[in-house]
Order: sequence, then C-alpha cells, then structure tokens
Amino acid sequence: MSLIVQKYGGTSVGSIERIQAVAKRVSKCQARGDKLIVVVSAMSGETDRLLGLAKEVMPRPQGRELDVLLSTGEQVTIALLTMALQSLGLQARSFTGPQISIVTDAAHNKARIQRIDSQRVNDALNAGEVVVVAGFQGVTEIGDITTLGRGGSDTTAVAIAAALNADECQIYTDVDGVYTTDPRIVPDAQRLNRVTYEEMLEMASLGAKVLQIRSVEFASKYQVALRVLSSFEDGPGTLISSEEIIMEDALLSGVTLNRDEAKLTMLGVPDRPGVASAILGPVADANIEVDMILQNMGADGTTDFTFTVHRNDFEAVMSILNAIAAELGARAIEGDNKIVKISLVGVGMRSHAGIASRMFRALATEGINIQMISTSEIKISVVVDEKYSELGVRTLHSEFQLERPR
Ligand code: ADP
Ligand code: ASP
Ligand code: MG
Repeated sequence: MSLIVQKYGGTSVGSIERIQAVAKRVSKCQARGDKLIVVVSAMSGETDRLLGLAKEVMPRPQGRELDVLLSTGEQVTIALLTMALQSLGLQARSFTGPQISIVTDAAHNKARIQRIDSQRVNDALNAGEVVVVAGFQGVTEIGDITTLGRGGSDTTAVAIAAALNADECQIYTDVDGVYTTDPRIVPDAQRLNRVTYEEMLEMASLGAKVLQIRSVEFASKYQVALRVLSSFEDGPGTLISSEEIIMEDALLSGVTLNRDEAKLTMLGVPDRPGVASAILGPVADANIEVDMILQNMGADGTTDFTFTVHRNDFEAVMSILNAIAAELGARAIEGDNKIVKISLVGVGMRSHAGIASRMFRALATEGINIQMISTSEIKISVVVDEKYSELGVRTLHSEFQLERPR
C-alpha cells in the first residue's frame, strides 16, 4: 500500500463540476488501495478576488489581517471536496492548516513551514479516511493564521509528503507536465518526462510558475519524488527527481520568461571601496531582494552600478536611490520597469561549451539587444526589453531545437 499526496490547483477545483471530477479521480486512486492525502487550492480567481476586496477597504492592509482573509479561499474548497467525496460513498475528512498544526514562522503573506504534526493525519488515514488539507495556510506558534505566498499550496503538499514520508507527491494542474517552455507562449513546446530538482529550481526561480520555488526546494532537501500531472486527462506527467535517476542525456531542459523584473542604474558613482554596499545596503534594509547586479568601470574613475529587483519594488527602490544619490556623488539615476529576463536552463550546460555564444548569436540575429547577462553552472539569463518577450523565448526555443519530441 502506497501513501500518496495529491495537490489540485485553482483551475482543477474551479467549479462544482471540477470538484466532482477531482472527487472521482481520488476515488479511483483509493480503489487501487492507496492511502491518500489531498491538498487543495482556492477555486481559481478566488485569491485574487479576496485581495481585491481587501484593497477596496485599505490600500495596504496588514499582513496578519490579509492572511485571515486569504486563508478562507482554501477552507471553502476542502469542505466542498470532502462533501463530494462523501457523496461518492468515501470516508473523508477535511483539515485546515491550523487543525493539523502546520506551524510556520510569523512572516505573514510569505510564511515558511517549520513543522507539521502528523498525528491527526495519520489517525484519519488509519481509520480509512481520505484526508483533505487546505493548501497555502499555516499557523504561528501563538496561533495566528499565516499564508505561504502565491502558489503556496504546492509547498503545503510537498511539506506534508516529506513529513509523512509519502511515496510520491503528485501536483495536478491545468497542463500535463513541465514543458520546455510555457506552452502558452510556444505551442510546440514539449513535455519533459523527467527533470532534476536543480533544473526545476532554476526554472521555477526564473519564471516557470508551474511550481512554487519553495516546493521544489523542499522536495530536493527531503528527496520527495514530485510529479506534475494534468487533472483533466490521464498521462505520465513530469517526474522531478535527483540527477542520478535521470537517464536521458538531454542537454537543455527549457527556456523561461520572467516578466516581474525592473532595472535600476546609478550612473557615474565615484569608484571607491564600499560603493556597492552603500547602494545595496539601504535596499536590503527595506527588505527588498536584489536579483542581478552589474558594475561597469568608466575610464574617468567613476562606475555605473546596475541591478534588478521585483517590479513591485521598483518605485520603492527609485526613492531609496534618489535619497542616497547626492551623498554618493552619483551623476544620475535611471530606471526601466519595461524589461524581462529570459533564461536557458539545463544540467547539460556543465559539460558543453559554446551554449552562451550560440544563445547570444541567435538573439542578435533577431535584433534583440541584450542589456544584462548572468550565468550559473546550469543556466544563462539575459535581460531584454519587454517587447521582445515572446520573440526571445521562441527564438531560443527553436535555436536549441527544444520542440524536438523527446
Ligand atoms: P495551479 O493553479 O494548478 O497551481 P498554475 O497556474 O500555478 O496552476 O501553474 C500552471 C501554469 O504554469 C500552466 O497553465 C502554464 O501556463 C504555466 N507554465 C509556465 N511555464 C511552464 C512550463 N515550463 N511548463 C508547464 N507550465 C508552465
Ligand atoms: N490560492 C493561492 C494562490 O492563488 C495558493 C495556491 O493556489 O497555491 O496563490
Ligand atoms: Mg500554482
């Protein structure tokens, strides 16, 4: 008998019909004799709707109250799915995050799971019940409700799978696996049979929103076998696992697009020790994460310092830079929030030279100017004007023949 954790995302539980279809799928798996824990998201659009309501009342609501509000979305779905399972004759029980002590830190809206009390879940499983758990939510040590950040139900599922030592964690969504790039941009993108945790981590961090980054970090840390599948049709999906298990020798696994970036430059800063920290210190103090960083030496003893942040933080960083520009002796500040980051990811890059130059040549042939570059062992990222988003992704996808069936 296997223990399987299944997670169904917003679209998969987006209507009563969809919830009933999920209940049927769950009942089929149970009939095979598996023990099942089912994690669900809020019905599609619900989290955005709740966010909209909050903004109508207050432009910047407190994190704590926002979490009380947002966690209701998932509570609706667990109750409805449990009812749907019961009407099929199954024994099922729903649990909110606090009910099974999914304890998190107190970072509201982006809390991290610290531990899960598996006792109640195990008791229900041993009593032959399907356990239905609300994704995306937890509780602090002192009993305040928290949420885990957008897409956080993926992380709930993986954390439960790790805590209960499940045989597999299956993420059911509206695509039938992880693709070489977002199939909405490149229709002939290919489904990957397998990807490594490392590649999936890069892909998720670089814009492939099919899995929340933290869920992949968790899966990798606790070696949870993770599979992305469609809730609409049957199929093998994509298995995410460690490198040793992956037999195929695919050079590159995919192209990602991140539209959430903005770029800022401080021009003509006198070149002396401490400049980088004088610029990035106040940004870090404001709790703003910096992504790419670039420093150019001028011949005149000054430097241009460029970095990227999340687009939501653009205005805040602009005012920070304006406040410190005079003190640092900067000539000017430039900002551009109409940029995107396109990345090429693959473990095969480690052993193959020339990928970067081929990537840059392909972009140049299409007249796409590269504004920034950053690399790691298994990825190359470029920042380009946002008007080249789709063209850039398609160009790289076809340059590296990712549309070839695998
Ligand atoms: P859910 O609501 O089930 O959590 P998400 O919207 O979070 O679903 O994630 C699924 C979506 O991720 C797909 O509809 C697809 O458009 C998008 N996506 C982006 N990049 C990729 C990729 N490389 N492979 C598969 N899907 C991707
Ligand atoms: N409902 C939350 C969101 O929309 C969490 C999730 O779906 O994973 O982000
Ligand atoms: Mg999601």
